[in-house]
Amino acid sequence: MDLSTPIKDAGRLFKIYSRRLEKLGIIRLSDLLLHIPFRYEDYSLVSKIGKLRAGDVATIKGEVDSIKNVYTKGYRRIQKARVKDNTGEVEIVWFNQPFILKTIKKGERISISGKVDQDGGKLVFRSPDYELESENLIHTGRLVPIYPETKGVSSKWIRRQVFKLLEGNVEKDPLPDKIRNENGLMEYAKAIRNVHFPDTPDEALKARNRLAFDELLTIHLGSIIKRGEWDKIGKSRPFKLDKAKLSEFEKSLPFKLTDSQQKAISEILNDLGLERPMNRLLEGDVGSGKTVVSCVAMYIAYLNGFQSVFMAPTEILTLQHFKTISDLLSPFGLSVALRTGSLKTGEKDSDITVGTHALIQKHVDFENLGLVIIDEQQRFGVEQRGILRKKGKTPHFLTMTATPIPRTVALTLYGDLDLSVLTDMPKGRKIIKTWVVPSAKRESAYAWIEKELKKTSSQAFVICPFIEESESAVTVKAAVKEFENLKTRVFTNLKLGLLHGKMKSAEKEKALGDFRRGKADILVATPVVEVGIDIPNATIMVLEASERFGLSQLHQLRGRVGRGDKQSYCLLFTESLSQQTIQRLRSMEKTQVGSELAEIDLKLRGAGEVYGTAQHGVRDLKIANFSDLDLLKKSFEAAKKIFPDIKKYPMLLEKVNNVSTKNVSPD
Ligand code: ADP
Ligand code: MG
Repeated sequence: MDLSTPIKDAGRLFKIYSRRLEKLGIIRLSDLLLHIPFRYEDYSLVSKIGKLRAGDVATIKGEVDSIKNVYTKGYRRIQKARVKDNTGEVEIVWFNQPFILKTIKKGERISISGKVDQDGGKLVFRSPDYELESENLIHTGRLVPIYPETKGVSSKWIRRQVFKLLEGNVEKDPLPDKIRNENGLMEYAKAIRNVHFPDTPDEALKARNRLAFDELLTIHLGSIIKRGEWDKIGKSRPFKLDKAKLSEFEKSLPFKLTDSQQKAISEILNDLGLERPMNRLLEGDVGSGKTVVSCVAMYIAYLNGFQSVFMAPTEILTLQHFKTISDLLSPFGLSVALRTGSLKTGEKDSDITVGTHALIQKHVDFENLGLVIIDEQQRFGVEQRGILRKKGKTPHFLTMTATPIPRTVALTLYGDLDLSVLTDMPKGRKIIKTWVVPSAKRESAYAWIEKELKKTSSQAFVICPFIEESESAVTVKAAVKEFENLKTRVFTNLKLGLLHGKMKSAEKEKALGDFRRGKADILVATPVVEVGIDIPNATIMVLEASERFGLSQLHQLRGRVGRGDKQSYCLLFTESLSQQTIQRLRSMEKTQVGSELAEIDLKLRGAGEVYGTAQHGVRDLKIANFSDLDLLKKSFEAAKKIFPDIKKYPMLLEKVNNVSTKNVSPD
């Protein structure tokens, strides 16, 4: 059967299973072949029955001496068999699987894989995997693939179907021979077979590697194609650069721009001077100073008679940006408007509109939109960018992210964007002293905090844990409770404020404003402050239940302090006793570099969680791994080589189209 056949049209059995398989992302037969095992059970060693010992994971082959149904007290049926070889015999027990008696009969030779248990003096296999020796062994006696499963679809079922499909024709190799050889890759058909039914672990690894290469190559090719499409999107009006005005603005800043800020600015200015609309990603660790870079771009837009929008992911952050941007740019004559779900100030002809995703609503329009800035872009989808684009005449795009991504990963995730990276931090930033605080030290930590705040007249954040994924009622309740607890029992001599996402905008603004003006010593908050809040007088960051956060997130949160010149601290509270957890948290004590923490996260937790790819509409990798930088690089080079001749490789092109329709929403 043609592998591109949809599962639901691939016969009666597949039709019945199509809904369930869809949950695993298996839509066509070919997807089933690319449903990759996440591990293999090693049943490859065949033992003599006489040599079995309790606790072994083993495979035996032998003749069925007897098999029967036995009824237990609870009217349960168990199936008991005895299997013998020339060294001994062993008992096999299955629970409530009477159909086994239909396939396995006395006298038949079978293969059994599983764990050997002790029952009284006897050895027994309980619910082992089994199959007739006369068949191809796929469930026993070899490296047995274990797949991601879903309700009603077991690894055993998948194994059987994959095996049957493999008996037919596997697709031709989509890669040009030359590329395959250059990169030392296994042939496609062999890779598909070996990834499911390898003879050795090494073979499995090589097979997976080959398929991972294909996956990454497809993504890279997709990016190159999208880049080409962006080139044809229409012309922007090139912005002219007024050097005198620009240097006047730079001189007005209370600090000197870092080298990498200057480099990013010149890359941006260069883009803005072209007819091709800018499509650039500005990446920089928390506190590296992305906002001011975007202000330069907005100022240039203004000087050329264009409006800008600046979109941020949360209302709290939007309010802060509104203030920062107004402070920096209104002295130069720019009018700044604000638009969130509940707040609206300014006019539609304002030079800059700062807002949340409320900006993309239908009735929001602009007279002459020339530049779109998106902050913390990992939180927005492609679709939202598309809508914003249509509110202007091919405006320039600058997106910003603090997710510290190795360059090679960025090229994969955001390959259609040009990349600027802020590599150095503003001068004078001190290391944020970080300690993991176990529960035994909690009280003394509280005492220390109070003393420190009084001594240095600075302020602290206390961040309550995520209880659930989003800013849910439960999370908010926990924060409110902690606020009460700290206020009435712990910090009775200090002023406390509370901030969470379910508060009304005016309340949020007040809470944040009060804290900024020093009216509260401690701000108790949900993790909404994670992104971007900037309060230089805050020097202590307390993170509750810190073990629930990834290191990258902790790093982001820690970055809320250490912004002024005072020494700052981060206290990671945890009730966890797990050595592993403490060890992981201790990485925060040792390193202040976001990309290093991201790499540790990557190893411990996997890319999806680190980059939040699943939630944020960015493609998720099925086979490859973002930590494999070498493969990322090789596949990128290969994509560049293949692209000019892409028409010669219709199979590759089809794969590219499949990926982009599946994972990326259209503009
Ligand atoms: P992020 O990159 O995390 O968005 P921000 O733009 O919020 O960082 O900047 C963090 C802080 O650093 C702000 O208070 C900002 O005024 C300050 N800052 C930005 N650039 C510099 C610089 N070159 N020197 C000193 N401080 C700077
Ligand atoms: Mg920021």
